[in-house]
Amino acid sequence: MKTEDTISAIATALGTAGVGIIRMSGENSIAIAEKIFDRPLQTAPDRKIIFGHIKNPAGEIVDEVLILIMRAPKSYTRENVVEIQCHGGVEVLREILSLTFKAGARPAERGEFTKRAFLNGRLDLSQAQAVLDVIQAKTATALSVAQNQLAGKTSKKIRAIRTEILNVLAHIEALIDFPEDDIDDAVTSELDAKILAQIDAVKIFLANQRSGRILREGLETAIIGKPNVGKSSLLNFLAETDRAIVTDIPGTTRDSIEEFVNIRGVPLKIIDTAGIRSSDNPVEQIGIERAKDCAGRAELILALFDSSREISAEDLEILRLIEGRSAIILLTKADLTQVIDTARFENFIAISVKTGAGVEKFLDTIAEKAGAVNAEMNFVRDEREADLLRRAVENLEEARATLSKNIGIDFVAIDLRAALELLSELTGESVTEDVINEIFSKFCIGK
Ligand code: GDP
Repeated sequence: MKTEDTISAIATALGTAGVGIIRMSGENSIAIAEKIFDRPLQTAPDRKIIFGHIKNPAGEIVDEVLILIMRAPKSYTRENVVEIQCHGGVEVLREILSLTFKAGARPAERGEFTKRAFLNGRLDLSQAQAVLDVIQAKTATALSVAQNQLAGKTSKKIRAIRTEILNVLAHIEALIDFPEDDIDDAVTSELDAKILAQIDAVKIFLANQRSGRILREGLETAIIGKPNVGKSSLLNFLAETDRAIVTDIPGTTRDSIEEFVNIRGVPLKIIDTAGIRSSDNPVEQIGIERAKDCAGRAELILALFDSSREISAEDLEILRLIEGRSAIILLTKADLTQVIDTARFENFIAISVKTGAGVEKFLDTIAEKAGAVNAEMNFVRDEREADLLRRAVENLEEARATLSKNIGIDFVAIDLRAALELLSELTGESVTEDVINEIFSKFCIGK
């Protein structure tokens, strides 16, 4: 696919920073940059820093900048790419961006740079999506997984599976010319074993789907309990255990800031931290309503009960709320004299954020509930990928069934081809434009 437009966007986060980068990609990007720069660029060397000034049409200096030219095909998008490094102020960046538009570029759509990298064959679909994962990684483990995927590890595994299936297919096609009863049982069982091995390989990806999602998006966790049980103390404690990551979600108020805490490599996405942190506010004291709301959204519930006090009606209501849910019961303030009747709880961890008692066991339990995660695992990224793989497994199972029924080896070939087609959608060798657009719309502008 040929992309003629030259696109331009601010590639760095918009805020006050030392340096900001505007990136352009497309055939005319060098000519466009030259129009707003005070030195010639068309003849300038590739991949060398060029110092100069950006000027507006009135000839006034907008900023002192460094320009980097990466000519096609040796660039991120495989097109001509120009990066303008200017000062990192919002106004400077906006001004230069708008000058690039006036000079002939158009605003880049979400993920359009990476989309071009994909369409021009620089990255496959799995790698392109990994770019997003690298940017958004919330723990070191999540980052390693994303880097592995970006390096093509996932694609390589999927291709290896395809190659194996292709080998089986080639074998079958060689057999098609023979009458069925000439295919001896040894050959049939050899083919069957080869197909089965690929089914198992695909199933590993599917088995790790939940872990993969948790690594990327975080395990949605609610901390609930009546006022004063120690919710905000626990949150602060967890945040200090490992640097808390706070993300501003565009278009929302600060109330819905998402906070991540990293537990043994597992990112926990804590629901409604604002509600917890403002618990000294009388309005927030209506603990049960908040608990219901949070628990409803959570995949893991941390239910807190104050061990230094008698159990209350509110506590009982919270116990009912977590029935049948994935929850960890924490009896807080274990450093104080225990008053609560522990017989009320089946499984609990006594914990104190003052002394650290019970904390190790608590962290282990969380990691256990999240399931094993490590950078070497193979994951599917999302439902789209999972669906493709599940259907591929179905086709492969079908192929085995057909093979065992001995109703014609050419029917086995049909099933194998269907599985191959699904696997190539995963790496993007065969994928529709709608799917591509859907995938890249999740990116941010400038990536
Ligand atoms: P929240 O209303 O549930 O968020 O509760 P807070 O975290 O604000 O804690 C209420 C009170 O309990 C505060 O005075 C905390 O210092 C105290 N507290 C919390 N955790 C512990 C603990 O482990 N030991 C002791 N002794 N006090 C705690």
